Amino acid sequence: MHADNWLPLKKNIVRPDNRLLRLLDENTFQELAPYLEILTLPNGHVLAASGGVQDHLYFPVSCVLNIQGELADGSTAELTAISRNGFLGASALTGVRMPWGRVTAVHGGQLARVRSSIAATILRRAPKVLDEMLRYVVFSMHLMSLSLICQRHHSLDQRLARWLSGMMFLSRDHRLDVTHDQLGRYLGVRREGISETMKGFEVAGLLVSTRGHLEVVDAARLRARACGCLDEGRDTFMRFFPSHSLTHPLSQHAAPMGVRYERRYADVG
Ligand SMILES: [Zn+2]
Repeated sequence: MHADNWLPLKKNIVRPDNRLLRLLDENTFQELAPYLEILTLPNGHVLAASGGVQDHLYFPVSCVLNIQGELADGSTAELTAISRNGFLGASALTGVRMPWGRVTAVHGGQLARVRSSIAATILRRAPKVLDEMLRYVVFSMHLMSLSLICQRHHSLDQRLARWLSGMMFLSRDHRLDVTHDQLGRYLGVRREGISETMKGFEVAGLLVSTRGHLEVVDAARLRARACGCLDEGRDTFMRFFPSHSLTHPLSQHAAPMGVRYERRYADVG
């Protein structure tokens, strides 16, 4: 990615809608704001390939990032996804420059970043936010552990339903621009397996899809096909962040389906 694509946050602009940036007190945010940069990522954009080195902290605003492990032969599988609830770049915050996995914008949208050396200095004056960031790191480790067990023990049908339901929640949208090839790389399976499973979902009336685009039309039934890892991930989030509401305005996009989907999460909080 060319560095010139990043734009500095304009003065007096509304604070980026990322949970951690919203938690900063006004003085600390004003200190950080001159160093924040914003970029709008298109769907499927590869933010970082394996081997790149972290020197920024990234805060998703309206995009959802997908972090994949990648082997030397190019095989990949998703480790975790990061939305506006979290951030990426914890190792850079410690001063240790670790290589990336593969980072893709699985749902396009805005992303904010700040150089890690600057963030480390300013955020030390915001211990509550640092504590939340530490919690998010530990939460992400739990999700990665869950992902490993899920890949080993649950069927592709269950895993794809889990992935689609989870991504719909994180992106706040029941429409996703994603190809079968991309889904195969995220789930660590062959594209043919994805195509076959997607066809089953379509025949069952759970979603409709065209090339590179899908639309969930029955979120409740899709969700019922997912393995228990979907609820486990949600429950883990609520244990780490009990005061945070997981409701979202999905109903703006699709009333009956969205209302049902939203209620499942609202019940938890
Ligand atoms: Zn699972």
